[in-house]
Amino acid sequence: PSLYKQRDQLVIDMVEKTKPKSVMDLGCGDCRLLKRLKFLRHGAELLVGVDIDCNVIREKMRALAPLVSDYLQPGNRPLTVELYHGSVMEREPCTRGFDLVTCIELIEHLQLAEVDTFSEVVFGYMAPVTVVVSTPNAEFNPLLPGLTGFRHVDHKFEWTRAEFRAWAYGVCWEYGYSVEFTGLGEPPDQEMDVGFCCQIGVFHKHSPTVLGREALTRRNTDVEPSVYRLMYRVVY
Ligand code: SAM
Repeated sequence: PSLYKQRDQLVIDMVEKTKPKSVMDLGCGDCRLLKRLKFLRHGAELLVGVDIDCNVIREKMRALAPLVSDYLQPGNRPLTVELYHGSVMEREPCTRGFDLVTCIELIEHLQLAEVDTFSEVVFGYMAPVTVVVSTPNAEFNPLLPGLTGFRHVDHKFEWTRAEFRAWAYGVCWEYGYSVEFTGLGEPPDQEMDVGFCCQIGVFHKHSPTVLGREALTRRNTDVEPSVYRLMYRVVY
């Protein structure tokens, strides 16, 4: 399967294993991942997508509308799905204390100078229990046929494994997380020491109970968004 499907599957597998009650997909784009998560019915009460591009949300949000089958086989608890127009550079009170936040192929679209703010907002302010970050591994690029420069015109940077690790360890130290590295897309020759095509960090917050629960209470009192703009909300 293509790399984007493998990335979605990695998140799906994680969700099936850890059963987070609240999941937020930052840079959700066409909402493909949210749609799959919605069908899982793994016990989530809140699924949120955020993107800076309101047109892509507007175009795709109907894919999240309930189907007749959703009403014929309702889950045990109501599931709320929300889509917001907003930027990961902004502090939005209703984004705090999620169980899982995913940033799939997002950070390389930020200016390198913005990455510190991104880290502060996601790890310091939103402070979810678990964060998944995926980004291209620049060391794999020579294996991609015909590629000169970055993999996409909108990428502002692409990190080597060492650069990604340095950023990740910095975040862990500063905001109290630990990280495990993984990836997707192996080089054709196993002997080649280039790493995966797509590099992934899975971050876990130390002492999630204290911070997570406190923040989640705030979230559950139904804070209305004050910075992001709500584009879509559906309750199943
Ligand atoms: N996560 C999706 C996926 O895996 O297919 C989409 C990835 S796409 C390469 C990057 C997405 O990040 C785009 O939809 C883009 O609009 C969004 N994005 C870029 N900068 C952003 C920002 N500052 N805040 C929120 N979303 C942003």
